[in-house]
Amino acid sequence: MSWEDRVRKVVPYTPGEQPKTDHVIKLNTNENPYPPSPKVAEALRNLKTDDLRLYPDPAASDLVHAVAKNYGLKDSQVFVGVGSDDVLAMCFMTFFHSKDPIFFPDITYSFYDVWADLLEIPYETKVLKADFGIDPEDYLAPNGGIVFPNPNAPTGQDLPLSRIERIVAGNPDSIVIVDEAYVDFGAETALPLLEKYDNLVVTQTFSKSRSLAGLRVGCAMANERLIKYLNDVKYSFNSYTMNRPTIALAKACIEDQAYFKSCCQKIVATREKTEDLLRKLGFILRDSKANFVFATHPERQAKEIFAYLKSRNIYVRYFDKPRIDNYLRITIGTDEEMETLAGALEDYFKRSEI
Ligand SMILES: *Cc1c(COP(=O)(O)O)cnc(C)c1O
Repeated sequence: MSWEDRVRKVVPYTPGEQPKTDHVIKLNTNENPYPPSPKVAEALRNLKTDDLRLYPDPAASDLVHAVAKNYGLKDSQVFVGVGSDDVLAMCFMTFFHSKDPIFFPDITYSFYDVWADLLEIPYETKVLKADFGIDPEDYLAPNGGIVFPNPNAPTGQDLPLSRIERIVAGNPDSIVIVDEAYVDFGAETALPLLEKYDNLVVTQTFSKSRSLAGLRVGCAMANERLIKYLNDVKYSFNSYTMNRPTIALAKACIEDQAYFKSCCQKIVATREKTEDLLRKLGFILRDSKANFVFATHPERQAKEIFAYLKSRNIYVRYFDKPRIDNYLRITIGTDEEMETLAGALEDYFKRSEI
């Protein structure tokens, strides 16, 4: 036996490409095209470097309080972490601790199976319907927990609150995590269900609708018993996950509700225009409730379109996976960026007609 046999081997999650060069139109990782709230810049100017001598507050209480206040919850119902990837990983560790398989859709955020494999959590995927919708009935069999994004990624389709409630109410003996990474772009949040159900966890992120992907902030909201269990696991792993500057900047961010709303409105308006532009070019897509669209073209291979756009310095996301390998996931950028994209696509179709 060599050390090689004693080492854990995993297949990691592959994040979207972060091109090193400037002058690219980056529509591949669902970042926000607008800068974060000016209150964040102000908070950054007010940071005191001398404070960095000191460890941060392990509970990130200032930020927890700001998040709780924003959603009308008690501080004891909120957990914050280093991006919702960190929050979700902690949730998997804490809440998915049974021999029964957890359930999530076959087409969904590609980190779920990576965490399940890493943490040796058994799982079963539930096949999305032909229209890529989630059928709540699929989630009513015995399970060790449930997780799904609403709206789902990369499809952009949402599940109405009544259908989410069906899943939560139908599983009183396991924890249901609703990953609301994109909820601010038009879907209904499951937060109101927290009053009625003690088995629900809602996660959100500052990376998309709040323009802070580079800062790494996410949160979980649930009843206080679940939040306590989550904190117990976190303090058993790494207590000081969130640094002082991040706590201050994220707090300033969530306090600026007006800026956040206007940003989301702009993205929704651009999304609608983009859907029209793409349909005019022959793409087939459903109305999205996220800050991206998921489109296929009946006459052209998504993989080829993807490569062509890349050659024009426009990055979109292509997944070489069963059922979705002829789709492109395109993040909504500014109006100008989306017009450039449409222009490049027009060139592509003209060129390949010859
Ligand atoms: C982007 C994303 C996340 C995680 O985002 P963070 O940047 O880690 O907060 C979680 N779930 C889904 C579905 C996402 O698309």
